Amino acid sequence: MNDSITDGLTDSQKAAVEHVDGPLLIVAGPGSGKTRVVTRRISNLVTNANISPRSLLAITFTNKASKEMAERVRELLPDVRVWVSTFHRFCARLLREYGEVVGIKSTFSILDSTDQKQMIRLVMNDLDYDTVHYAPNKVLWRISNAKNDLITPEQYATRFEESIGDHWQAVVAKVYPAYQKRMLESNAVDFDDLLMHTATLLTENPELRKQLGERYRYILVDEYQDTNLSQYQIVAALAEHHGNLCVTGDPDQSIYGWRGARIENILRFERDFPAAKTIRLEQNFRSTQSILRSADALIDHNQQRKQKSLITDNEEGESVQLLCFPDSREEAEGIATKIRDLVDNEGYAWNQIAIFYRVNALSRQIEMALMRNRIPVQVAAGVAFYDRAEIKDLLAYMRLVENPADATAFLRIVNKPLRGLGKTSQNRLVRWAAINNLTLIQAAARAGEVPKLSKRAVFGFKRFAEMIESFSLADAGSVADLLLRVVEKTRYTAAWEGSYDEADTEKLANVEELVGAARQYDEAIGDERSLQGFLEQTALVSDTDWIDDKNGQVTLMTLHAAKGLEFPVAFIVGVEEGLIPHERALKEGDRREIEEERRLLFVGITRAEKRLFLTESRIRSMHGRNVPTIQSPFLRELECERLEFGTDGFINDEQWRQPTHDVSKLADIPAMPKLMTGAALLNGEKTAAEIPTGFGIGMRVRHPRYGIGVVTELSGYGGRRTVTVNFSDDDRTESFIAAKAPLQPV
Ligand code: ATP
Ligand code: MG
Repeated sequence: MNDSITDGLTDSQKAAVEHVDGPLLIVAGPGSGKTRVVTRRISNLVTNANISPRSLLAITFTNKASKEMAERVRELLPDVRVWVSTFHRFCARLLREYGEVVGIKSTFSILDSTDQKQMIRLVMNDLDYDTVHYAPNKVLWRISNAKNDLITPEQYATRFEESIGDHWQAVVAKVYPAYQKRMLESNAVDFDDLLMHTATLLTENPELRKQLGERYRYILVDEYQDTNLSQYQIVAALAEHHGNLCVTGDPDQSIYGWRGARIENILRFERDFPAAKTIRLEQNFRSTQSILRSADALIDHNQQRKQKSLITDNEEGESVQLLCFPDSREEAEGIATKIRDLVDNEGYAWNQIAIFYRVNALSRQIEMALMRNRIPVQVAAGVAFYDRAEIKDLLAYMRLVENPADATAFLRIVNKPLRGLGKTSQNRLVRWAAINNLTLIQAAARAGEVPKLSKRAVFGFKRFAEMIESFSLADAGSVADLLLRVVEKTRYTAAWEGSYDEADTEKLANVEELVGAARQYDEAIGDERSLQGFLEQTALVSDTDWIDDKNGQVTLMTLHAAKGLEFPVAFIVGVEEGLIPHERALKEGDRREIEEERRLLFVGITRAEKRLFLTESRIRSMHGRNVPTIQSPFLRELECERLEFGTDGFINDEQWRQPTHDVSKLADIPAMPKLMTGAALLNGEKTAAEIPTGFGIGMRVRHPRYGIGVVTELSGYGGRRTVTVNFSDDDRTESFIAAKAPLQPV
């Protein structure tokens, strides 16, 4: 027995590590060593049970977690390389190998949400659906839910075609099959497809299931509480023959219900695998007693949970502090001051400190304040980086080189930079391509045959097709060089070079960063580099991927991204009603949603090892508006010491401060009427006198929470007049009672 593998483990941790064959469930609270056990268990399987590392399949929730787990194993066993992956990466790899069975070629593209939106618009235009009335996001959301529940387009269509009660279903019943058909024609998949195709592949092919079962003889899944139905089916199919499946999870940390995750998957494990051994880990090694008490008291308010307490031998520690500020500018400055103090006087290092928030919109102000105070800072925003227009454009070129069928990529860049190929010409090409069963790039090469195209457009399309054809990884030698060639040949950055405009310099810096990422990829992968490999890495990025633990910076990230991580000091910003719990949950008035919000705060709290600070601000600036806030009802449920900063005497009335929702009794109150979040409502009443009753379609308005939007629809009369607005920030569509809506024309 190799000692180092079980060194310093508790008896129950040791039992989990030394377990070899058969199903194993490890359920335990945060910081109890679940992830550590999985890592040690891998090492034990290889060293003591003589299992080949190639027979192991370990799945974590993020790329960062995968990388860390692989590194930990290597520390214990320097010669061993295990492949640790996320579900999406694993599925992508499997589909490259076996995708033909479900109709996709190995060069398939992976579309992100922005690409998806473009694709769905294309499909809805084809079907003559009004994308103003039927917001693409809402259609996509329903398609995504269907996919997560493994409902195929055909099944959806038969089930809901005649749908009378819900006209959305009838729309989706038409759009979903058409969308999926387009995706296959483009040889493209979205994130949900990666899972759904793999689940289908496995459930429908017993031979393949057997073969893969033999390849992956031991399967380990961390954070199992956040798996959805597709992921569940994939795991179940792979483990069918041998049952060597070890999962770890904590139902109290399930925070991806909105993406189709099902807590039941962990709760039903023992039923699905009757031979399962269950191990509970009771001891928390991460946090102080006072942090744990707070976490425990909070989560105890969830009714749908099994009672479990966290115990620790750690010290009592400092009390959890709630820092209250008059406005968000002072809050950001206050956090910076506190951090300086922690570093200068209490011996903490920058990289031991993290700041979490519920929504990304909160990060900018804090980031700026830290920079003003010369505090080094990194924001975990990998996804946002790859969603920037210039990055998406360049990657679209690369995608088109790899997968010439990719229609979304083609349409994104065919006229970028401008080549005189406007929408009308594009539409003519698209239609002609469809009639003749050609990909868009094939059609572009034969543009001369397309009816009604101007000479200029014919020339433009042909040149474009030739240019794309001229790019190849083999010629360029490396992904980074190919990228540079694309930039050069398209003169993509020409307009920004030498500019003093900050937006332009930022774009240039981003392009450089992308080239840098490509270089890193080239170097890391060496001779086996492929365009596909690089594109996959960029498509499946998660927010925390680029976080560098060692470079001495304070880290900012969303509460969702913080899952599984730990920091000596944590701040949770904006613990206010409408943020946490998020107003969406309040609006639904659904206990399940509120409980998920409570779990999210619980996850945040339990990241902290030594010091935990919650903050709230009496006035919150977001989307260019100042809104008076209301305390989060969760604050009443946990133990903390309240500290006031800079009272301004403006809003001191206790009534402003009290939560308007008693979330512990949610089931007893009727569902919230739309938009009755406290802050917005108060604001609406205050400004009611200034609100014009006359809204017009196309009018630009500003909402205190949702930002700038455009009025898309008006209906009803008098007191029931409803105005519908599409907000550009996140393409969300909301309806309001006109007389009460806190909407300001801009
Ligand atoms: P989460 O639910 O938040 O993902 P977890 O259960 O996965 O938490 P780990 O991250 O594995 O917990 O462990 C929490 C911390 O406690 C880590 O720093 C880990 O190294 C440490 N730890 C775990 N077990 C022990 C032990 N037996 N002795 C000392 N430290 C331990
Ligand atoms: Mg963990």
